[in-house]
Amino acid sequence: MNNDRERAPRLARYATREEGSPGRKVPESPPTHRSEFQRDRDRIIHSTAFRRLVYKTQVFVNHEGDLYRTRLTHSLEVAQIARTVAGAMCLNEYLAEAICLAHDLGHTPFGHAGQDALNACMRDHGGFEHNLQSLRVVDELEEKYADFQGLNLMFETREGILKHCSVRRAKELGAVGDRFLTGRQPSLEAQLANLSDEIAYNSHDVDDGLRAGLLTVDELRNVAVFEKAHEEVRAKHPILDGRRLIYEIVRRLIGYMVDDLVEESGRRLDEVAPEDAESVRVANGPLVGFSEPMAAVHRELKKFLLDRLYRHSRVLRMTTKARRTVTQLFDAFASDVRLMPAEFSAAAERAASENGDRGRLRVVSDYIAGMTDRYAILEHERLFSPGQPT
Ligand code: MG
Repeated sequence: MNNDRERAPRLARYATREEGSPGRKVPESPPTHRSEFQRDRDRIIHSTAFRRLVYKTQVFVNHEGDLYRTRLTHSLEVAQIARTVAGAMCLNEYLAEAICLAHDLGHTPFGHAGQDALNACMRDHGGFEHNLQSLRVVDELEEKYADFQGLNLMFETREGILKHCSVRRAKELGAVGDRFLTGRQPSLEAQLANLSDEIAYNSHDVDDGLRAGLLTVDELRNVAVFEKAHEEVRAKHPILDGRRLIYEIVRRLIGYMVDDLVEESGRRLDEVAPEDAESVRVANGPLVGFSEPMAAVHRELKKFLLDRLYRHSRVLRMTTKARRTVTQLFDAFASDVRLMPAEFSAAAERAASENGDRGRLRVVSDYIAGMTDRYAILEHERLFSPGQPT
C-alpha cells in the first residue's frame, strides 16, 4: 500500500488505485513493502501454473525448437509492452503487469488447437475457454496458501484476466462477471493488457514464422505495415540481411503499434476526460485503443498470419496431432477417472457426487488444461503405447 501512495502523484486521475478497490475475496492485512498489485504480480510469478507456461506452445509445439516463443516468453513480452505504455500514460503499471503475466495461465497444452479440442470435448458440460480457465486457476486451482483456495487476487486483477465471457457464464461468476451483463468497461489497465497481447503476438508470430522458414520476407512485404518497416530499415541499412534485418523490422512493428496506442488512447482520454477510474467504466467504449488506420493494419497482419502461418501445412499437421492427443486423453480419463493421478481422481469423484457428470468432467478438463506440451505427449504415450512404462 505504501508504494502505491508514493506513486499516486504519478498516477493519472483515471488510473486504477488500490484505495477504494473491492479488494480480495478473503481480506488480508496490507503488504509491508509492496503495493497490493505488486503482491498480485508476485503471487502469479510464484504460481505453479506460471512455471508451466515455459513448456506450453504459443504457435510451435515446444519440442520443435528452442528459439520459438512459448507461453512464458509471450507473457513476458506482453507484460513488458504493457508496462511501457502504462508508464507513458501514467496508468497503474503493477496492475497492468499482473494482468499480463496471468492472462494465459489457463491455456491448454498445444495452443489454440488444444483449447479447441478441449472445448469440443466439454461441449455438453459447460465448454472450455482459456480465459475463464485462467480465472479458475487464480481463483481455485492453485493450492499454496493456508487461508484460501487459489491466489486470492485483487478484484481488478481478476477482472482483467477475464477478457471476454458469455452472458450465461457471466451470471455464474458474480461481481467479476458483472460488466458482461451491464456493458460496462473494465479498467484502463485491463484494456491495455488486452491490446498489448495483440501487439506481442502479431509481431512475434512474424518473427517466429520467419525463423521457422514458414514465411519469407518477400511475401511479408505484401503486408503494408511490414513493407513500411522494411523500407525504413533498407533506407538506413542498405546491405543488412538475415536475422538482423528481420529483427530491425520486427522492432519497428512493435514501435509503430505502441506509438499509435499511446497517441490514440491519449486522444480518447482528452476527449472523454474521465474524472476518475470509475468514469472509465461507464464510458461508451474502451478508451485505450488503436486508431482506425492502425486497427486496419492489425486486421491485415492477422489475416496474413492466419492464411500463411496458422494454416500452413506444417502447423496444421501439428495442430491435428495435438487435437487428437487432447481428445484421446479426455476420452480415456472421462471413461475412467482412476486413470488420472490420485489427487485428480479423488477430486473427480468428489465433484461427481456434488455435480454429477458436469463436475466430474470439469476435473478431467482441469487436469488436461494444466498439462505442458511434453507432459501431454508423455501421458498419451503412457496410456496408449503398450511398450511404454505406465
Ligand atoms: Mg496471449
